[in-house]
Amino acid sequence: MDGAVGAVAAVAAPPSSEPPQPLPDLDTEGFWQATARGELALCRCHDCLLWVQPPLERCPSCAGPTSFQPVSGIGRVFSFIVVRHPAVSGFEHELPMVVAIVELEEQVGLRLTSRIVGPLEEVEIGSRVVAELVALPGGDFHAPVFRPT
Ligand SMILES: [Zn+2]
Repeated sequence: MDGAVGAVAAVAAPPSSEPPQPLPDLDTEGFWQATARGELALCRCHDCLLWVQPPLERCPSCAGPTSFQPVSGIGRVFSFIVVRHPAVSGFEHELPMVVAIVELEEQVGLRLTSRIVGPLEEVEIGSRVVAELVALPGGDFHAPVFRPT
């Protein structure tokens, strides 16, 4: 047997990089202002108290004004995937990682997409998770991740 038999072509890992940075706009600047204060806050109607995610300037139910209000950060995994390939820059060292849709306890259907941190084997549909804010490398932003409890 020569050395070439059974050889596997090496796939060069992409160079380590920084993740894309948020681009706050009129609808999302309240979210990023809250994370800068160390809070997780989502859009809520002042009149009927409906949580509105993604955020909107007016409530889709009653047309009332909205603003960002703190949430508990406690929720359950609604759905998730395991990311094994470096599709987004800045997370190469985290692979494999779980990206999940988390439904927060404040309201049925109030869902955020986020990373789940901690042992992969602890993540399943319905897992109870709690949010924490982590610094996003390459800028001044803090982003929520969820950890199984
Ligand atoms: Zn409303």
